[in-house]
Amino acid sequence: MQRTRTFILAGSLLAVSAANAAEPSSGTTVKVPAPVAATRAPVPAPEPKSNAAAPATAKTGDKKHADTKDAKDKKPKILARDLFGKAKSAADLTPRSIGWYAKGCLAGGVHLADAGPDWQTMRPSRNRAWGHPKLIALLKRLASEAKQDGWPGLLVGDISQPRGGPMLTGHASHQVGLDADIWLTPMPNRVLTRREREDINATSMLDKTSLSVDPKVFTPAHVALIKRAASYPQVERVFVHPAIKKALCEAPGKDRSWLYKVRPIWGHFYHFHIRIGCPNGGCETQPAVKGEDGCGSELKSWLKDIEASLKPKPKPPGPEVPYVAPSAKRQITMDQLPAECKVVLSSPSVPPPADEAMAATPTAATKK
Ligand SMILES: [Zn+2]
Repeated sequence: MQRTRTFILAGSLLAVSAANAAEPSSGTTVKVPAPVAATRAPVPAPEPKSNAAAPATAKTGDKKHADTKDAKDKKPKILARDLFGKAKSAADLTPRSIGWYAKGCLAGGVHLADAGPDWQTMRPSRNRAWGHPKLIALLKRLASEAKQDGWPGLLVGDISQPRGGPMLTGHASHQVGLDADIWLTPMPNRVLTRREREDINATSMLDKTSLSVDPKVFTPAHVALIKRAASYPQVERVFVHPAIKKALCEAPGKDRSWLYKVRPIWGHFYHFHIRIGCPNGGCETQPAVKGEDGCGSELKSWLKDIEASLKPKPKPPGPEVPYVAPSAKRQITMDQLPAECKVVLSSPSVPPPADEAMAATPTAATKK
C-alpha cells in the first residue's frame, strides 16, 4: 500500500511537471504579446523530502507499537488535489458550492458542453468545464448576449474540476464551481476540432511594454464584453491584468458603475476571470468591493508592481533557491477542506457528459 502511494505521488508529480511546462505561470508577465504555450515555467523542484513516502516499516515483535506509530507519522500526506484531480465526473448530489473559492469543492456540478451555438470550451483534456448550474447558465447567457456587442462567441477556459477542489496545476481558486476563465480571443466562426481546442494559442492583449494593452489587439469589443460580464448582478468580481484595467478605466463612456468589480491581478492578459457570488448556504461570501472604481491609486500601485517585476533582478548571493511551482506549495489536505467535501468525493458519479462519452468511444465507424 505504502509503495502504491509512492507511485501515485511520483506519478502526480510528473503530471505537475508536464502540465506546468505547458501552462503559463500566472505570476509571470511576458514582455511581448506571447502565445500561451510559449511562456514556460521553470521545471518545478522535486517535492521536499518530508513529503516523500515513508519506507515500509516491519510491524513485528516488541517494536510493533512504536513502529506503527512511526509509520503513521511518516505516512505520505494525501493531498486533496490528488483526489479531486482524479474525479472524472460530478458527484450525483444536489448542486452546492461548498467552502471558499480557494478551499472548497462542488457537489452536483454541471458540465458545459464542448461547443454550443455561441461558445466553445478550450483545453478539453483538462476536464475543467464543470461548474455550479448558476455559473454555467450565466456563461451561456453572456455568450448569447455578447453578440449584441459584436462579440462572436466565447472561448471558455478553465471553470472547475467535476467535483471542484484543488487542482494539480494552476489556479488557487476555481474550487467551488463559481469561477470561470474566458479567453480574450474571439471565437472563430467554425467549430474547432478537439485537437485545435487543445492546441490553439491564446493571444496576449499587452503591447511590448506590458504596461498597456496593444490597441490593435484589445478593441472596443473587448471593453464591451468585459463590461457586460461585470454588469450582471450575480458577478461579484472580474479579474484582469492591470494594463487591461487601465484600458477599461480610459475607455470612453459615461457609465462607470461596473468598473469597481473589475480587479487587477497578475497574469490574466490573454483571458479574464469572472467570479459569481455564493448561491447557496455553505459557501463563503467575499466582502463587497468598496465604493470607488479602482482607477486611481490602486491601479497606479499595481502598474508600479508590474514595472518592478519587469526589471532584471540582481542575482542574490549564495546558492540558487530551487524553483517550486505554486501548485506544489498549495498542499491542501482533505482535513483542511470542509467536511462535506469528503461526501462529495465519495458520492456516486453522474453519467459522463455526452461529448466526453463520444470522445471516449474508439471509433464510431469500426463499432457498427
Ligand atoms: Zn481564473
